[in-house]
Amino acid sequence: MNKIDWKNLSFGYQKTNYNVRCHFKNSKWGELEICSSETIDIHMAATGLHYGQEAFEGLKAFKGPDEKVRLFRWQDNAQRMINSARGVLMAEVPKELFFEAVKKAIQLNAEFVPPYESGASLYIRPLLFGSGPRIGVKPADEYMFVVFVTPVGPYFKEGFKPVSMLITREYDRAAPLGTGKFKVGGNYAASLKSMQKAHEGGYANVLYLDAREKKYIDECGPANFFAIKDNSYITPKSESILPSITNKSLMQLAKDIGMEVQERKVAVEELANFEEVGACGTAAVISPINKIVDEDIDIVYSFGGDEPGKISSLLYHKLQGIQYGTVEDIHGWTTIIDL
Ligand SMILES: *Cc1c(COP(=O)(O)O)cnc(C)c1O
Repeated sequence: MNKIDWKNLSFGYQKTNYNVRCHFKNSKWGELEICSSETIDIHMAATGLHYGQEAFEGLKAFKGPDEKVRLFRWQDNAQRMINSARGVLMAEVPKELFFEAVKKAIQLNAEFVPPYESGASLYIRPLLFGSGPRIGVKPADEYMFVVFVTPVGPYFKEGFKPVSMLITREYDRAAPLGTGKFKVGGNYAASLKSMQKAHEGGYANVLYLDAREKKYIDECGPANFFAIKDNSYITPKSESILPSITNKSLMQLAKDIGMEVQERKVAVEELANFEEVGACGTAAVISPINKIVDEDIDIVYSFGGDEPGKISSLLYHKLQGIQYGTVEDIHGWTTIIDL
């Protein structure tokens, strides 16, 4: 293996030694297979390719200063993948199988778990899709579950830095009663054009409004939205957002430090009154937001300057501390993986 420049890793794909795979056939899951190939040979009529029968997960493992490798809240990712499978009628991956595959993928690639000092981590990508052939629209009867890993750098290379977001009424990522609450690829396909538009305008991403009324905040591209006001942590409640495990963790940490947590509809005009706002997800934990531009009605909301807000920073450091094992894990969120 070439020496990895741990300090300059990006959030991108890098080849590792092995991935882990499992096939669902004749109504049951087979044995876990260890594979060194990066490619998959599948039927050209697989439903995952034609009809979007696909779901994925994203979680991380962290090496602490004690050299232990901690996997963060895998049970929640396993449950969410089961929910996604139910959402698009795929075979469900049992939690034990999910964990075994993730654990194996980490252990087989132990040399790719970044050292503590680098601020990097091992990103784990479980993937489930319909592999059986269909031409008529119908769920497949064969599925494939794959877990691969890749080392990733800290999301913000120059430290924890605020970003700007774009509100646009030109696009939606998910319908009110659609698949927004499942982690399926189709939602991402639906978000690419608006995301491109945001990037071209110099924004980190799009802040989506609810598709039905365009009155309430949904989420920020691939991350949930939260706001801080009067010692409250406020986050949108909506049928079309993906339940973020990072957000769920931040809500608990906010309660732990005596804040009130409000999970409710958040009207877009409320942006004018918030003290701090941010996006949250596994990739960055928190991306503080310092500017939101609502281009259709020509309003700019500003939050602080180039420094992240106090509460956002506090929550960020608490969560990262639990992940790296430097802050006590009182909620039992981490699982130590023996290498
Ligand atoms: C994965 C994802 C998130 C973040 O979820 P985490 O569990 O915190 O990583 C938020 N929104 C969408 C649309 C996602 O796909």
